[in-house]
Amino acid sequence: MSRDINNKFWDEELETLPREELEKRQLEDLKEIVKFAYENAPYYKRSFDEAGVKPEDIKTLKDIQKFPFINKKTQRDTQGVGSFLGELAAVPEEDVVFISTSSGSTGVPTMSPFTKKDFDEFQDTESRWFWQIGMRPNDRYVHALNFSLYVGGPDVIGAQNLGALCIWGGTLPSERLLFVLKTYQPTVIWTSPSYAWQLGEKALKSGIDPKKDLNIKKIIVAGELGGSIDATRKAIEDIWGAEVYDFYGLSDIFGACAAMCEAKDGLHIAENHILVETIDIHTGEILEPGQVGELVFTTLRKHARPLIRFRTGDIGRIDNTKCSCGRTHGRIHILGRKDDMFIVSAVNVFPSDIEAVIREQDGITGEYLIRIFERDFTNKYAVEIEKNADNPKTDEQVAAEVSAALKARIGVKPARVVVHPDGGLDTRSEHKSKRVIDERNLEYVI
Ligand SMILES: [Zn+2]
Repeated sequence: MSRDINNKFWDEELETLPREELEKRQLEDLKEIVKFAYENAPYYKRSFDEAGVKPEDIKTLKDIQKFPFINKKTQRDTQGVGSFLGELAAVPEEDVVFISTSSGSTGVPTMSPFTKKDFDEFQDTESRWFWQIGMRPNDRYVHALNFSLYVGGPDVIGAQNLGALCIWGGTLPSERLLFVLKTYQPTVIWTSPSYAWQLGEKALKSGIDPKKDLNIKKIIVAGELGGSIDATRKAIEDIWGAEVYDFYGLSDIFGACAAMCEAKDGLHIAENHILVETIDIHTGEILEPGQVGELVFTTLRKHARPLIRFRTGDIGRIDNTKCSCGRTHGRIHILGRKDDMFIVSAVNVFPSDIEAVIREQDGITGEYLIRIFERDFTNKYAVEIEKNADNPKTDEQVAAEVSAALKARIGVKPARVVVHPDGGLDTRSEHKSKRVIDERNLEYVI
């Protein structure tokens, strides 16, 4: 298939469907997938029967609200039960061509199975996002994401199907990756936001100026929140002289759920694949579009393992208004993981809020570590940062400035700010960084 490279849309009809038409298609697919799940996945048969709901109850999109939620625990509890793929799967194993699995960072890894059609549609959606950020067949693309088990690995096929020249980087050591960037002069790279930033710093320290010596024009980031934090995105863009775009995938569904466009105002979600709801994290009450809550996804077209009302654990809001880019699919704004949020003096704090402050401050490197702990049965947080070598201020002055900036932004001061010299924090891991340490109730764990 040859496309006009000047057309900004990968699939113009789909991407600009009037919402009424888009919702009509969603309803058709919703009816089909709920029926398919009920008839083929033992878990849904049981849970719908227990809840007294039937697939025929779906007459409008809102009728999904009658159906029970599932979450990560549902996946874990049903995995391997009755068959290898478990009770949420709706096809026999011979129809499955691929599984990815989650990292298991919050428990037993869960797998996500795909039929051939599921997989092809996943990659077509990925091509759509690549095209959306301006990737064209004459681009050279480095896919610097883990290929082993991780759902982001196969996304490279979406770039190949688009016609770009693809280099399967995986998790190469930094020196080798910089060699690839210098020698082959690729124009687009995808990695995690913390690694994009660290790689830029490493390049500078090894005498390579990413702006002059490399040819990277666009950087895709995912896997952490940084790409949706303006200050972090700007910091990466400044080092590389490139545009940064945030993408969002879920190991439970696929690697191509949502992506930024040139407006960089939220991430367009593939509403032809995913029906989005937002709910109150405590009560489960349905919220209106625009209100902040937990995002709940229903997969509309994934047959190997349909997810009906899956609580993602991500906190955010959806904006269904038409974007300035012309696309009609809604945009999600993600604030963070429900599990990462902590409460200090009755204020909900996301690590991303703290990151935004740290990345905006002058005279510090931007590296940080957050510690959450308990004193007198009250949550407190402390922040560790690094002072730039050429910053003439004392550590006390720097700590006071950061503390005041955090108070201004979040509303609650940190219990302390620890200032390290440049390179003093051990947070520069390859590809994905651990920046939040929760020390609460540690004595009970021990
Ligand atoms: Zn847009």
